Amino acid sequence: MAQMPPCRMGTCKAKRDQAPGQEIPRMAEVLRHLRRLCRCLALLWLWPEASWLCLARRLCLSHAWRRLPNSWLCLARPLPAAAVLTALAVLPAQTASAWDRLEFTRLIAHWDGYGTPEYLQFVAEVQPEIAQVGFYGAHFWSLAHTPYYDGYPAHFPVRGLAECGQWFEDLNARLHAQGVRVVGHFNLKFLVGDPDGPEGPRGFFHFYRQLWDEHELGPRPVADPLELLEQDAQGRPLVDRQYSIGGMAEYWGCLNNPHWRAVLRAWVRRGIQRGVDGYMINYFYRHNCLCEHCQAAFRAYLAERFSPQELQAQFGISELATHQFDEIVAWHDPAESTPLRREMLRFSQIANKRAFDEVFVQYGRSLKPDLILAQWNHLGDFSQIAGDERCLLPAPLWGRDEDYLWYSTGGALAFTDLAHGFLGEATLQARYIRGAFEDKPFTLGKYEQTRIRAAIAELAANGGAPMGFYTRFQDTAARAELVRYYGFLRRHDHLYHANRPHAEALLLFPRRAIHAGDLRPLANFKALGKDLLDRKVLFDVRPDDLADPQVLASYRLVVDPSASQRVPEQALAGLSRFEGPQTVRVSASRPLHGGEIDLHLVNYNRHEPPEPRSPGNGIVDERPIAAPSMTVDLLLPANQHVSEVLFLTPEEPEPRAIPFATNGGRLHCNVPEFLVYAVLRVKLGAAGPP
Ligand SMILES: [Zn+2]
Repeated sequence: MAQMPPCRMGTCKAKRDQAPGQEIPRMAEVLRHLRRLCRCLALLWLWPEASWLCLARRLCLSHAWRRLPNSWLCLARPLPAAAVLTALAVLPAQTASAWDRLEFTRLIAHWDGYGTPEYLQFVAEVQPEIAQVGFYGAHFWSLAHTPYYDGYPAHFPVRGLAECGQWFEDLNARLHAQGVRVVGHFNLKFLVGDPDGPEGPRGFFHFYRQLWDEHELGPRPVADPLELLEQDAQGRPLVDRQYSIGGMAEYWGCLNNPHWRAVLRAWVRRGIQRGVDGYMINYFYRHNCLCEHCQAAFRAYLAERFSPQELQAQFGISELATHQFDEIVAWHDPAESTPLRREMLRFSQIANKRAFDEVFVQYGRSLKPDLILAQWNHLGDFSQIAGDERCLLPAPLWGRDEDYLWYSTGGALAFTDLAHGFLGEATLQARYIRGAFEDKPFTLGKYEQTRIRAAIAELAANGGAPMGFYTRFQDTAARAELVRYYGFLRRHDHLYHANRPHAEALLLFPRRAIHAGDLRPLANFKALGKDLLDRKVLFDVRPDDLADPQVLASYRLVVDPSASQRVPEQALAGLSRFEGPQTVRVSASRPLHGGEIDLHLVNYNRHEPPEPRSPGNGIVDERPIAAPSMTVDLLLPANQHVSEVLFLTPEEPEPRAIPFATNGGRLHCNVPEFLVYAVLRVKLGAAGPP
């Protein structure tokens, strides 16, 4: 197993997260902040002449400071350099990186209902570490001032850019007062509006032309907002009417357009001023934009990756410098894929990542060094080439500089078909994300409004942070279970916080083949994953390009999806065995401070709604059926003995010690009956002399 890295903790939640016996190294924390401050000052120092001074003035709320003449401010210019040089000289280089990681395990996210008084009461009851709430990107600036402010998607509680912005500022302060960190949603390119019409410009275009306050946001990057948009070959904006909010059309800002990035920077800055701790950024789409910026960027991408001879031989491109592409697609049907289209998709994903890096990582964190950053992307049932915003992203860029991930599985998993072995689960997706993302926090957007207990348990069991949509606090019965399950996770936080998987087998994710356009091993991967889950094997998932020999050697069994769809029985000899119903999944983890193996059991059995594949109508339709007692035959780590086995379930207030036996390095016990989620804490100690 990989060594567990230390966790990053914010000052406001360090005490809450402190596990028994855990000491927070205060000095390391102080040094971390000092180094971040230095990085920020260094970045400002490297900016063009006096631009940091302008920024400082814009950020500062004091009118007195704003009235200071530039000549006075220039006197301060040597200060950052002096601070940087001094700090870099005295601070040990390793201190910051060792603590530069966010860990959390309880999150709530809302796009509606957050404007009611019950929302803050609910927050107080479930005590999440992160509340994903509020809007600071294109949803806000397109819709908050329109008559459609209170509808989909953002359901703003008040109308008006200033009024709603102030409302979010107040909400952020109230959440902070509860010790909760706020991550705001940031739509980075999906625009709603009409450039012109009988009523004049509407939505985003009304904002840009008439409501953009240069005192608040700085100068407009360009006069005409049409210059910011994704375009077709004739220079016309790409347009859609999928949602048609208020009858308005939909457009997209082009992330390769430097002026659009300037708009994003202005919005990022304003949101930080309003008190967010971070951004959950969504709509990482790139369409078939053929604007001058995309044409130039794709040419530069190809020039860096291929020689002129290769471009001619592989793609028939003879003069790259003057070549005009008649398509630069992103996601596309794998059946219609070509090597050049995959280069276009790969380019699109790298370009989106570069925009993210420039706007959020470099600029956003220059303003707020501990800005939490996460992308909201879509995995579905491992849709690749036709979906998944990172499917062709090179491994070194995958999730880099993100603190956590949101992956949407869509509504395809929000039902069960138990007779056919379909549990409506995302266990395999969770393990894949865990393995691809170095075990950083993540959540899944399952759009599950019915099987709330199973959705929470699934994430908790597999290293995720419950839960994506929906924590429906307005439903009394759902709220009671949310409070019960979040309370369970909070009481036993020392088992979840920064834990690491405990596994005996490794299932490789065929990323190399996917990048080469071959999706056949992906089908094998999904079949093998289901097979291993059904046979209750303790396994991790890791992309094959991250599985070096040292990683492979740490597992008893490595399953390669390049050929087979089933693991032969003899390959499982000697591994742990769990005998129980097919509707129960088994996972295992080790807590941050070790000393035990925690088995997680998630039971998907239930009385299903009468209509096939029905997602149900809320928690009233979850109707779980308790799992009967199961047998455990757990392979123990070498030279370890078992001191105690505790059974925990959210439905029981206290842990229960259960009888067990050990024999030949294996633990034998029975898991008592449980409803949806159970944890078996297998406490370990060094074996005594024989
Ligand atoms: Zn473009």
